[in-house]
Amino acid sequence: MRKLIYMLLLLMCLTFACSSCTDVHRYTNHSFFAMNTFITVIGEDNTDFDSIEKLTSEYELLLSRTDTQSEISRLNADGNGIISDDTALLLHKSLEIARATDGAYNPCMGGIVSLWDITSGKEYVPSQDEVSLALALTDFNKLSVNGNNAILDEKGIQVDLGGIAKGFALQKAVDSAKATGVENICISFGGNVGVIGSSGSVRKSDGEGWRVGITNPFDKDKTLGTLLLKEGFISVSGAYERFFEKDGKVYHHIFDPKTGTPSDSDLASACVITDDGALGDALSTALFVMGSKKAAEFYSDGPYEFDMILIKNDGEILVTGGVSELFTLTDSDYSVKYI
Ligand code: AMP
Ligand code: MG
Repeated sequence: MRKLIYMLLLLMCLTFACSSCTDVHRYTNHSFFAMNTFITVIGEDNTDFDSIEKLTSEYELLLSRTDTQSEISRLNADGNGIISDDTALLLHKSLEIARATDGAYNPCMGGIVSLWDITSGKEYVPSQDEVSLALALTDFNKLSVNGNNAILDEKGIQVDLGGIAKGFALQKAVDSAKATGVENICISFGGNVGVIGSSGSVRKSDGEGWRVGITNPFDKDKTLGTLLLKEGFISVSGAYERFFEKDGKVYHHIFDPKTGTPSDSDLASACVITDDGALGDALSTALFVMGSKKAAEFYSDGPYEFDMILIKNDGEILVTGGVSELFTLTDSDYSVKYI
């Protein structure tokens, strides 16, 4: 329920167009819970909401670390396993991004994620020894994929695709809607939103795309800006998404693979805008861990095409060139620097 209340992205202007507009769309809102998050699909009446829901459950069944029947769980338990084409594709992609980000995104953080178990309600802060033991089993170079065979070279390494699976399933959902002729849709998977077309809303600019609210990471019930997105994905990672507080300290769900503890960079949240849902999801996690300086270097020198909105702990917002015209600051307490 907290996830619903803390929903990262507020979708705006979701009804239908005024009568004076020529391009009139009627939208329906369909929500369900899957992949450990609330998913909302906003589509026109011809949208096949049921097949999007079904597709999401199928990916959850392949990729979940906690469902004992999933392909990832079986790989973790046995140290090897036969996997589907989609899981193989996603593992390849995860490894590529892990290498490109120098391990800031690491698909083998399962041991650390389960040690902290941030959302369990236990509010347990592990000892340094426990963290060191779990951290020793996070080397992603020991994961390999050959065709439909995945192998973990060291016993105890645990794959966790929590930082990429939602973006991947989201991309699949958007692609499948597109393949059935859908021209306007917005799908929100927790911190990941994918859109095609426009909201057909009364305001002219909204007819040119979907206006996606960017959550204020310091006050998660509010937004501090909007991004106009016509086709593509925006993924957000922030400390405020899943966390517990103990003895005045916040422990959140995004871990620094170098320390095995919640990442402590200068960022309050990192948003990535791409045309690849899985990449955007993994990169938002990675940039959040990197912090603003390394993220800016990665943006200019790294191998991927993307844009980003970084919200620093000091309130400064860094926005890259490709989205500078599409981002609108709505809270004057904050300042924007275009990079
Ligand atoms: P996101 O909300 O997309 O940033 O993903 C966070 C989730 O990814 C966590 O709940 C963990 O399951 C997993 N995770 C945490 N830290 C990392 C990391 N450094 N690299 C990859 N996955 C991570
Ligand atoms: Mg992510």
